[in-house]
Amino acid sequence: MTAADRRSNLLALARGARGFMPDDEGAALHQAAHRAGSQAAGGATFVEIGAWCGKSTVYLGAAAEETGAVLFSVDHHHGSEENQVGWEHHDRDLVDPVSGLIDTLPFWRRTVDDAGLGGSVVGVVGDSPIVASRWHGPVDLCFIDGGHGATPAWADFDGWSPKVAVGGWLAIHDVFPDPADGGRPPYELWCAALASGEWEEDGHRGSLRVLRRIRPPTRR
Ligand code: SAH
Ligand code: MG
Repeated sequence: MTAADRRSNLLALARGARGFMPDDEGAALHQAAHRAGSQAAGGATFVEIGAWCGKSTVYLGAAAEETGAVLFSVDHHHGSEENQVGWEHHDRDLVDPVSGLIDTLPFWRRTVDDAGLGGSVVGVVGDSPIVASRWHGPVDLCFIDGGHGATPAWADFDGWSPKVAVGGWLAIHDVFPDPADGGRPPYELWCAALASGEWEEDGHRGSLRVLRRIRPPTRR
């Protein structure tokens, strides 16, 4: 298979996967990750916060495979607040009948296996702030799409954005400047990032906003 065929197969698989990412935003995410992976000599490190059933994982994983990067895909796989019973983004097929909890890990795993991305994608099953607290290396691209309430969104931003190296990328999903379109926290993270002077805008598509680090982090 040619590299172009492999890419189009992976992007088609990502488009068909269950999840929360419009096709054009997924393509933009793949492109941002491709830039990040191409820039880092010797193999970039990508981190995804919020994987669900692996849709964004395949967009990012395709870019990882193409550039020799490794994607660490962090999720506890029990869903965010907005995925629980009675909330807007609930899907009853994803509830484990034994535990009664949402469990997207088997679906995530199937998506990554179907994509054949085991050589480029590592699943990290756990709570994002806990993983962040023990993660010491620099990150070349971080994609934040975890819990969208204020507490989890800020915890992801505070925990992960300082790890992005100067010249590296931060992508935030579900950034909606107009409150009629969606919740505030991802937009507030994006505003805070720009106001800090540490980041410059590096493109956007729909609700996906891409930032590039221009200054080292200062403690908040
Ligand atoms: N990127 C996915 C959608 C992610 S949905 C896609 O492309 O479809 C948000 C995900 O964040 C859920 O799977 C949820 O389990 C995860 N999440 C929420 N809070 C988390 C936390 N504190 N630690 C780890 N994962 C979390
Ligand atoms: Mg999202």
